[in-house]
Amino acid sequence: MRRLVLILGDQLTPDIAALRAADPARDVVVMAEVRAEGTYVPHHPQKIALILSAMRHFAAELRGAGWTVAYSRLDDPGNTQSIPGELLRRAAELGASDIHATRPGEWRLIEALDGMPLPVTQAADDRFLCSDAEFATWAEGRKQLRMEWFYREMRRKTGLLMDGDQPVGGQWNFDHDNRKAAKADLFRPRPPRFDPDAVTSEVLDLVAAQFPDHFGRLRPFGWGVTRADALVALDWFIAHALPRFGDEQDAMLADDPTLSHSLLSPYLNIGLLSAMEVCTVAEAAYRAGKAPLNAVEGFIRQIIGWREYVRGIYMLHGPGYADQNALGADRALPALYWGAKTDMACLSHAVAQTRDLAYAHHIQRLMVTGLFGLIAGISPQALHAWYLSVYIDAFEWVEAPNTIGMSQFADGGVLGSKPYAASGAYIDRMSDYCGSCRYKVKDKTGPDACPFNLLYWHFLLRHRERFQTNPRMAQMYRTWDKMDQTRRQATLSGADAFLQRLESGTTV
Ligand SMILES: Cc1cc2nc3c(=O)[nH]c(=O)nc-3n(C[C@H](O)[C@H](O)[C@H](O)COP(=O)(O)OP(=O)(O)OC[C@H]3O[C@@H](n4cnc5c(N)ncnc54)[C@H](O)[C@@H]3O)c2cc1C
Ligand code: SF4
Repeated sequence: MRRLVLILGDQLTPDIAALRAADPARDVVVMAEVRAEGTYVPHHPQKIALILSAMRHFAAELRGAGWTVAYSRLDDPGNTQSIPGELLRRAAELGASDIHATRPGEWRLIEALDGMPLPVTQAADDRFLCSDAEFATWAEGRKQLRMEWFYREMRRKTGLLMDGDQPVGGQWNFDHDNRKAAKADLFRPRPPRFDPDAVTSEVLDLVAAQFPDHFGRLRPFGWGVTRADALVALDWFIAHALPRFGDEQDAMLADDPTLSHSLLSPYLNIGLLSAMEVCTVAEAAYRAGKAPLNAVEGFIRQIIGWREYVRGIYMLHGPGYADQNALGADRALPALYWGAKTDMACLSHAVAQTRDLAYAHHIQRLMVTGLFGLIAGISPQALHAWYLSVYIDAFEWVEAPNTIGMSQFADGGVLGSKPYAASGAYIDRMSDYCGSCRYKVKDKTGPDACPFNLLYWHFLLRHRERFQTNPRMAQMYRTWDKMDQTRRQATLSGADAFLQRLESGTTV
């Protein structure tokens, strides 16, 4: 009996579980461009274009390898515009009675497939190094699910950067070497960009016509759309950026949106590169003396540590992870996140860069847009929808734990032992944003005070009961208590006034 094999837009891996279990002589691969996936949040036009173009290229590769592919284009007249709708349409058309899929990366689609009137097998997605069952076993009985302990397990499991059973260099984590600011450097190599081919050009026209209102600039579009492109991006990163990756990991520069970051997340997340292969080549660069240990360890930790860990948390928690709001934050998302004018230079840069490139690096996401959301008390669900919309690499399994958990502490501390709250001093130390800002980062109160300085204390006091007994935060409360009464009052009234202006839509 003929089976349908579902391949989603983030499952573009030739040996993915559903394909391994299928028979090209009998089964039909179903791939579908559908409006529902482009609009459940208003995805950045570059992200939609990346996925559609990569899907079209991948379908051509599958056909070349002997598969029959039933491919629905977004503007096909019969397109039902949803994944379940297209599966049912193809099943009726081809007389197929069951569907084989690789388990999607988000609960929304897992549940949609579970609810289909046809039998759907969802094979585990073994592109991840840690299976759901393995993560659940690791998590069982632990009071705290700390990434660092999980990461060490993954180092042992993969053998990456190990000398026997000991970590290379005698220590697991070199993060303390990785918190340097960066200086503008005109000679820092820039990541490769890929000229749109005929397929991508056609997709760009389609996206421009179909999603004209989505936030973000569609052109110039320079992302790779095939595995060959992704390998070029990987080679470039290893040769040119990895050596400085560690040193510059937390730095931010107004005129350099990418510094020494890899920009590999979209390729990893849609299946054009595998986690193990990128880590293996990074380790080889270290062993060949081409990149220092702090850089290579830091990079590998992001992938076999953070990336696998956040997915484990998302899958372990089950549906509803993104609905949590432990701190009860309920402020609406300010228009500045959608590009409205703001006088805060750091936010202005991070949002403009996001609009133009569909990319911002981790510290911009965590310590600028995320930090502001946290201390201003913005709804974590509004922020979750924003992060899921605006980034090239956004998929809920990785975006939600980073936003809801790491950045907003809305999961109540599953992901982090304390919130990433900070004043403007952090941004000043790690970036060159403050010099051009209308606010003064050194001013703690008064009309020119940096809003992060005001909101930081406002946040700590709003949540005093929860955090003052946290050993990593108690010192801040002692500092506040020792502060002069006039300054305390000026800080809190300054923060209230700022929040009122923010809420009323005044430019802040
Ligand atoms: C609020 C917020 C939202 C985020 N949303 C996403 C998202 O939707 N998709 C996404 O892939 N990442 C997300 N991240 C994690 C991280 O910011 C991005 O993976 C990274 O910026 C991608 O750029 P890069 O490839 O240049 O990363 P690099 O700095 O070069 O890092 C190398 C790789 O490590 C992995 N990685 C690094 N940090 C993390 C992390 N915290 N969690 C998971 N993987 C990580 C990525 O695969 C990345 O490609 C988010 C972080 C925050 C704070
Ligand atoms: S002064 Fe404050 S608002 Fe301005 S860039 Fe610095 S941290 Fe951001």
